[in-house]
Amino acid sequence: MLKKNFKHLHIFIIFALSVLFVLFWRFHGANVNKVNVRIDANRGVCVHFIDVDQGDCELITCGGYSVLIDAGERDKGVTVVQYLKNLGLKKVDYIIATHPHTDHIGGLNSVINNFNVGEIIMPKIPQRLVPTNVVYKRLLETIINKHIKVRRAVQGDVLNLGEPSLNILGPICENYDNLNDFSVGALFSYKNVSFLFCGDMQGNAERDLLNSKQNIKADVFKLSHHGSRTSNCKKFLQAVSPTYCVAEVGKNNIHRHPHTKVLNILDSLGIKNIYRTDIDGNIIFYTDGEKIYVQTQKKRKPTKTHFSR
Ligand SMILES: [Zn+2]
Repeated sequence: MLKKNFKHLHIFIIFALSVLFVLFWRFHGANVNKVNVRIDANRGVCVHFIDVDQGDCELITCGGYSVLIDAGERDKGVTVVQYLKNLGLKKVDYIIATHPHTDHIGGLNSVINNFNVGEIIMPKIPQRLVPTNVVYKRLLETIINKHIKVRRAVQGDVLNLGEPSLNILGPICENYDNLNDFSVGALFSYKNVSFLFCGDMQGNAERDLLNSKQNIKADVFKLSHHGSRTSNCKKFLQAVSPTYCVAEVGKNNIHRHPHTKVLNILDSLGIKNIYRTDIDGNIIFYTDGEKIYVQTQKKRKPTKTHFSR
């Protein structure tokens, strides 16, 4: 009798393990298939954080529209152009040049020379802060030569991207002392999912953005100024309340970005999903407007979270 019961127990355990295995395989298998970004890039909604070493470069692709936010240093122009070509892009509808520091605008010249560009959005900066370096001068010359429409970043503007939207949040003020604070703030939203980009915005501009009472809640936040401690203050991060953060940083960069202080703040707020281009390479978020899928070029496996705000 006892022997018979053991036999039944064995059969039950084997059956239960089989069910668990099938469920596990189905769950993970489905994610891997859905995150085939090369196939979905022109159909679904994707946000790419392109690895340009120590510099910023993000690309939004959705329903045939594309928005490029910055393009790293000048020598990274080739990398960015190749990345866009690999996705099969022929045009870039909007370029946002967050602010004229070379680690953001350096590669834009190559992009403009290789793609049809709809508009370029730039912040209005006071004459006293206009850069005199050759990178900025060349960019302006190329914009003029190619007859590209320049739009000043104005709070409240919305870019037309079909169903998703991209809201321009700032710069808020016209009298900052630091060029970083003029960085264009932009919130990209698709149904219930949103991404926040603030370039290299520092503490003063973050405070102004908070006080402007605009919606800055986002599921994914690109850490400002590469995760510097002069940006990403606790109050601001609390208001954004992201599930994911991305640091666009170079390996062993001399600035030690992202800064430990910022990582500690994120940890204290329970924000555990930190992606970094120095570790993960290119980072791609795919969303259907409800769920978020992440795929990294290196190491990490795809993950899935259910949106719940
Ligand atoms: Zn920067």
